[in-house]
Amino acid sequence: MNTANVDAQELAKFSELAHRWWDPDSEFRPLHQINPLRLDWIDGLASLGGKQVLDVGCGGGILAESMAGRADRVTGIDLAARPLGVARLHALEAGVLNVDYREIAAEALAAESPSSFDVVTCMEMLEHVPDPASTVRACTALVKPGGWVFFSTLNRNPKSFLFAIVGAEYVLRLLPRGTHEYARFIRPSELARFARDAGLDVQTMKGMEYNPLTRRYWLSADTSVNYLLACRRPA
Ligand code: SAH
Repeated sequence: MNTANVDAQELAKFSELAHRWWDPDSEFRPLHQINPLRLDWIDGLASLGGKQVLDVGCGGGILAESMAGRADRVTGIDLAARPLGVARLHALEAGVLNVDYREIAAEALAAESPSSFDVVTCMEMLEHVPDPASTVRACTALVKPGGWVFFSTLNRNPKSFLFAIVGAEYVLRLLPRGTHEYARFIRPSELARFARDAGLDVQTMKGMEYNPLTRRYWLSADTSVNYLLACRRPA
C-alpha cells in the first residue's frame, strides 16, 4: 500500500490557517456553512446513532465534532499537526468527549485496524492528495462490511474551474488563492471508478450549489462543481 500519499505543501497550507479554523467568518466559512447539510445527508443515509465513525482528513474537526454529537464515537485523522491541535482543543472546550484525533495516514490506519468503522467520511480532502485512489482503497479497508463510506470533492470541467477557482478564490475571495489545484479535481465518473475498483458499491450522489448573492449553499442534483458520493462496502 502507498504509505507516502501526501503532499507536504498541501499540509502546510492548512497548518498555516489552522488557528482560524473555527472562525465562521474566516477562509473556513464555506466548511461551516456546508456542514449542517452534509451532516444531515450522511446521518439520513447511514444513521449515525450508536455508530463508530472515522473522519479522514478531518482538519480542525468541523465535521468530526458535529458527527460526535450523533454517533457513539468519532475518530478524526489528518496529517497536518496544527489543524489536529485545533480540533483537540475545540473538542475539549466544547466538552465533546467521544471524539479522538490522531496524526496518521488513512493507509497506515487501514493496515493497523482494518474493518473497524461503521461509517467512514472523507470530505474535501481527495483533491489535496497525490493518489486519491489509494485514499479510497484505504477508506474501503477501514469500513466494516456493510458499512458506509462518504466522499466529497470538486468536479473537473470548465464550470468547476470558473466557479471553484476563479469565482471562489479570485472574485468572491471565499478561499485563499492557491487553495485548489485544477488538475487534482476529480470527475464523479472517476471517483465512482475508484470506489468500484476498491470494492465499494456506489449508492447515490448529490451536488452542492452556492448562490453568491444570498451566500447560501444547498444540496441538489447538480454535481457540476461540488459533489458528494455515498458508497457501501458489500456485507
Ligand atoms: N474534511 C474536513 C477538512 C477539509 S480541508 C472538512 O471537510 O471539514 C482538507 C484537509 O485534508 C486538511 O485538514 C488537510 O490537512 C488534509 N489533508 C491533506 N492531505 C492529506 C493527507 N495526505 N492525509 C490526510 N489528510 C490530508
